[in-house]
Amino acid sequence: MKLCVSITEKNLEDALVVARNILSKSPDLIEIRFDLMDSLPQRLDVFKEITIPKIATLRSAHHGGKFKGTDDEKLKFMIKAARSGFELLDIESDSNLMAKLGDAVGNAKIICSTHDFNGTPDASSIIELLVRNAARSDIAKVAFQVNSIRDLSSIVDGAEGFKETGNEFVIIGMGELGALTRILASKLGCAFTYVAVEPGKEAAPGQLDIDTMKFLGDDPVITGITGFPLSHTISPLLHNAVFRALKIPGRYLTFPAKEDELEDLINLVIDLGIRGFNVTIPHKENIIPYVDKMDSSALQTGAVNTVLNKDGTLVGYNTDLYGVEITFKKNGVEPFGKEVLIIGAGGAARACCAYLLDKGAKVYVVNRTRERAEALVKDFRKEIELLDMAEIEQRKFDVIINCTPLGMKGFPDTMLVDTKIFSQGQFVFDTIYNPPKTKFLEIAERRGAIISSGLGMLVAQAEKAFEIWTGVTPPHEIMMAAAQEALT
Ligand code: NAP
Repeated sequence: MKLCVSITEKNLEDALVVARNILSKSPDLIEIRFDLMDSLPQRLDVFKEITIPKIATLRSAHHGGKFKGTDDEKLKFMIKAARSGFELLDIESDSNLMAKLGDAVGNAKIICSTHDFNGTPDASSIIELLVRNAARSDIAKVAFQVNSIRDLSSIVDGAEGFKETGNEFVIIGMGELGALTRILASKLGCAFTYVAVEPGKEAAPGQLDIDTMKFLGDDPVITGITGFPLSHTISPLLHNAVFRALKIPGRYLTFPAKEDELEDLINLVIDLGIRGFNVTIPHKENIIPYVDKMDSSALQTGAVNTVLNKDGTLVGYNTDLYGVEITFKKNGVEPFGKEVLIIGAGGAARACCAYLLDKGAKVYVVNRTRERAEALVKDFRKEIELLDMAEIEQRKFDVIINCTPLGMKGFPDTMLVDTKIFSQGQFVFDTIYNPPKTKFLEIAERRGAIISSGLGMLVAQAEKAFEIWTGVTPPHEIMMAAAQEALT
């Protein structure tokens, strides 16, 4: 992928120094953002010593820049830039400059650009915009704020549709969710993509720096996580720490998707060759109709937390199962013959049931919605006893596990069960890892229970998922250190 470094310095001298220095990193183009300078420089020919193609940009405020002058001033500046050796001029699609530039800019190529910092239109509107911009210039450029998976999907479909015209173009998804369009710009068919000189010097939201983009290359391993909301997740920090430490060109991204966006996500995964993704609350069961095959771990639990894209075939796995096993082993708790209460009946509860039933524990389940718990019992076709909230207090359990998000960051900090159920010597496991000690665990500990948060489970399930996607076993200490750092 061709990389264009955006230079955002406040004056000509600094911009020239940065342009000279960045050449050691072999960018393909540079863009000078003149609108970000304190004042418009008089002499532009100083950039002639930079021999790679240079783009002159004077971005107006309504396109996300800082230029407040008139179209006439802009016209004069662009003519000067062309005469000073700038090979490309960025002209905004809604200005009337295009018609006026004419022969005055000589051989300089025109990039006709459109920016929308609010959102992304549908794919057919994107194609229309690109066609309109291409008709008036050498390179059509469009950039949209990506607010959802559907927006991302529109960008990919728009690029796919426009590619057939054979015109040069650049399409960018701005914001955190748009990172995929920058990383996979070559797959989208872009002539080049914009990068920052270094982290912190981004010219637009979501722009990555040149070192990161060079490291990722043209065909990086892309993985990520879907769920909704995703504000609580620290999984990107764990996986990206391992990609970095093992020098594997790869990136773990977030794909927040509502249930009706899962199909869009699946199309993106297939179209862009995304290697796989984790699935978290509330989609561990919702995702099942979208996978082509279920591995034995997914069949055993009836829930999928990891999807592998194996050359276009989607395989569902459940690495939470491994996470539960590791948690019990690390805490020295042998499930055989134990009376275990599971609170919740979603994906995490299913992983716990599968492990515990396999190990010969007596399992009880209580859930807010009884029908969901009934479906869980039916699926396991084994001796799971369903309890009502009122029944719980009358019983004694050796192990209690919270498999609901109650107490998790961003969710209500209430408890579904009475604290009287905790007792001395019990093993109490909260699958939540953020915060590291929930109110549920705090009270259990005060009552003498041995406690465990979901951190060990999180790291173990992440290690297994990384291995499924890359074939590489990640060093445990790296993921654990990243998780602990994220939670402090
Ligand atoms: P899920 O499949 O969506 O299931 C959520 C469960 O929580 C359901 O039983 C649901 O009950 C219950 N629930 C949700 N909101 C509730 C509320 N306000 N009051 C009472 N019950 C509520 O989610 P999941 O994937 O199993 O995740 C559940 C929890 O486990 C999350 O906190 C997640 O972070 C944690 N987890 C941790 C790890 C780890 O590695 N540490 C792995 C997996 C999950 P209804 O049926 O009534 O909706």
